[in-house]
Amino acid sequence: MVEKISKPDAEWRRQLTPEQYHVVREKGTERPFTGAYWNTKTPGVYRCAACGLELFSSGTKFDSGTGWPSFFAPVDDEHVATETDRSLGMVRVEALCARCNAHLGHVFDDGPAPTGLRYCMNSASLEFKEKP
Ligand code: FE
Repeated sequence: MVEKISKPDAEWRRQLTPEQYHVVREKGTERPFTGAYWNTKTPGVYRCAACGLELFSSGTKFDSGTGWPSFFAPVDDEHVATETDRSLGMVRVEALCARCNAHLGHVFDDGPAPTGLRYCMNSASLEFKEKP
């Protein structure tokens, strides 16, 4: 299990850019084709922008055509938590960082093999580190 981190809201506000804060703490969504990573194909690892936990690897990233970085699996199922999201009149599966509860995006079941899942993420929730 991943040990949880919680911080006062003021500390998140200090630590994160306004855009990151809006996405990860207020469950915002960046506009498609605007984020830093929707078209990134470089090998490397995507960590939580808020707490640094490893979330996704470039090896599971695929071109979903949505304008958001998309993955068919997390690096570890224990690193990405999911919850039912009933906002905006839809029922969706929300993806969250299992350590700091940052909102990451949503999970859909129209992804490619082998999982059939599409982790539709916000670039603002992620921090990419190129493989050395
Ligand atoms: Fe996190």
